[in-house]
Amino acid sequence: MRELPVLSIVIPCYNEEKVLPVTAPEFLGELEHLAGRGKISKDSYILFVNDGSKDATWDIIKNLSLENPHFRGISQSRNRGHQNAVLAGLMDARKRADITISIDCDGQDDIHAMEAMVDAYHGGADVVYGVRSKRTTDTFFKRFTAESFYRLMNWMGAEVVFNHADYRLLSSRVLDALAQFKEVNIFLRGMVPLIGFNSTSVYYERHERLAGESHYPLKKMIALAFDGITSLSIRPIRMITGVGALISVLGLIAILWAIIMRVSGNTVDGWASLVCIVAFLGGIQLLCLGIIGEYVGKTYLETKGRPRYIISERTPGENVREKGNI
Ligand code: UDP
Ligand code: MG
Repeated sequence: MRELPVLSIVIPCYNEEKVLPVTAPEFLGELEHLAGRGKISKDSYILFVNDGSKDATWDIIKNLSLENPHFRGISQSRNRGHQNAVLAGLMDARKRADITISIDCDGQDDIHAMEAMVDAYHGGADVVYGVRSKRTTDTFFKRFTAESFYRLMNWMGAEVVFNHADYRLLSSRVLDALAQFKEVNIFLRGMVPLIGFNSTSVYYERHERLAGESHYPLKKMIALAFDGITSLSIRPIRMITGVGALISVLGLIAILWAIIMRVSGNTVDGWASLVCIVAFLGGIQLLCLGIIGEYVGKTYLETKGRPRYIISERTPGENVREKGNI
């Protein structure tokens, strides 16, 4: 029998002092359950990533780590956003663990789906996506915006798994591949499918947030979609080319028409149409410039190659095995 895999449950936390004391024991319970059933190694652990919280989150994590060695934590030097926090956790876990499961700390994702994920790993899967089967606890508005989000992403060429957020299992070879993705603008939901390997999905019901508020209101969802699309796909630029070509053809027809009218002596009064065309083209051009500008901006940020996360602190007593030359 092959050795049991060391699992690291990676949990990003930003201002979650109300939630952590409730969910942390649940995560531990699940970890112990999986180890007890001989599915994961007893060295498995929970890795909290404090994403520059302004409340007592980091203190709670430190206390947890003193209470039980299966709780560990790293702290980012400042808030850098959910995606970077997850990546920081995954890259840290990669040094020690054979598999990781990333999950939010607010109790919305059903932790009991982890067992099915680990089973799928033992069955040969390298990537196991946690997919929300029902979203009945979300408001109609959240469901509608979320659905539009997935549709828009896929239509724009950023392949994402429908109704899957950042609850997923990754094997060590996927983590190694992920480490080679050097981009600064990261959108894990779009990057993981690009890595390939065997993947499968596990379905679960999404619960309501235990306490506190979502950090993803509509404005941030739109920003995330926009970021995801422009980080993963150049289809919007291609679409601009298409629209530009179409408008050019229409313009050419308009010019021909104008010449014919002029030559035939029918003077065109055309003030209104002129204003419409100028205004329309002005709008389209600015929009296109904006989209291209977004890509230029992203290229600029990427060329700087700044670190994607900076870890400022760790919980005491990190004495687990290091995987060597990383
Ligand atoms: N989070 C984070 N950094 C941030 C915002 C959120 O690490 O800047 C964490 C947060 O603590 C939670 C997860 O990311 O564990 C998802 O956030 P949230 O529950 O607010 O999003 P939603 O579930 O509403 O999409
Ligand atoms: Mg949540």
